[in-house]
Amino acid sequence: MVIAGVVMLFNMAAPHAGWHHKNADVMGTRISVELFHPDPAVAQKGVDAVIAEMHRIDNNMSPWIETSELARLNRDAAKKPVVVSREFFNLIEQSLSFSRMTGGAFDITFASVGFLYDYRAGVRPDDQQRQQAAALINYHNLRLNDADNSIRYSKPGVRVDLGGIAKGHAVDRSIALLQSLGIERALVTAGGDSRTVGERWGRPWNIGVRHPDDADKLVAVIPLQDVAVSTSGDYQRYFDENGVRYHHIIDPASGDSARELRSVTIIGPDATTTDALSTSVFVLGLQKGMDLVNQLPGIDAILVDAHGRLHYSEELLPAKKPDDSVKPTTDSVTH
Ligand code: ADP
Ligand code: MG
Repeated sequence: MVIAGVVMLFNMAAPHAGWHHKNADVMGTRISVELFHPDPAVAQKGVDAVIAEMHRIDNNMSPWIETSELARLNRDAAKKPVVVSREFFNLIEQSLSFSRMTGGAFDITFASVGFLYDYRAGVRPDDQQRQQAAALINYHNLRLNDADNSIRYSKPGVRVDLGGIAKGHAVDRSIALLQSLGIERALVTAGGDSRTVGERWGRPWNIGVRHPDDADKLVAVIPLQDVAVSTSGDYQRYFDENGVRYHHIIDPASGDSARELRSVTIIGPDATTTDALSTSVFVLGLQKGMDLVNQLPGIDAILVDAHGRLHYSEELLPAKKPDDSVKPTTDSVTH
């Protein structure tokens, strides 16, 4: 199954009392919620709340939905300041702080070039188009006014896309909703971004990292509890041309796809952070990416390089190697 995100290797054979599970397609990706509550009415309420929350965020943050806050911003912000919701404003502010943290590897204005690619149709800008548009990528081109929650672009041609952080945000919001309902054991996934609270059945959740070239193979399995995990890979949205892979993670410096790594898995306290950092570390590459991770407290990483070799951040060493015996107990695979 090729989807952007986590494939649940959910144990269908053993229905456990109080556990509820639902998949849905939202935000152009697969959403999954798995949770425990002894009262089926509360559990159902939790499942419904998560799916509704994902739709709500998609309606605000999709570049494809004309009435979204993001579409409005891209349409008008070069002409005048655009007032947005506090939630949207905060997420843009958070994006800028990840830009500063990563030396500009994470930059939501990557979309100034990003819109010239159509991975499904195999379309990309030529070198001149790419370089011209890449000159517009710079998070300093966003002017934020805290006083009235307005955002303005400093130049025409600047575009924003939240694809590197919105799913993580949606997962965090969903977990907060579940906790407010008194649900204390859950896994919520949106594409490559997941977060767990509590235990599964008296043990941590086993999250598998898939092989970049084979969705059915695992390269690592990690037991996790009360953390978020995000994977960014070059196999989600891409096309190959003359042996070169054009995919959806863009190096802001060049406007071209980042090619030093094949996949990046980040483990951290919340999904907004792990989502933004998985995209960032993918751009930064092996050395710079790992240096950043090792310097951030509470953040760990598993990287797959261009030769298929695995690299673990300091605190994860030695991580578990997968074999056939661990596969049946893997609760989900992060894509
Ligand atoms: P997914 O889970 O959608 O595969 P990732 O977390 O790997 O996503 O992030 C990839 C997405 O991030 C792209 O589809 C794009 O929307 C956005 N993106 C690409 N390059 C950058 C960048 N340099 N900075 C911020 N966002 C980016
Ligand atoms: Mg990401």
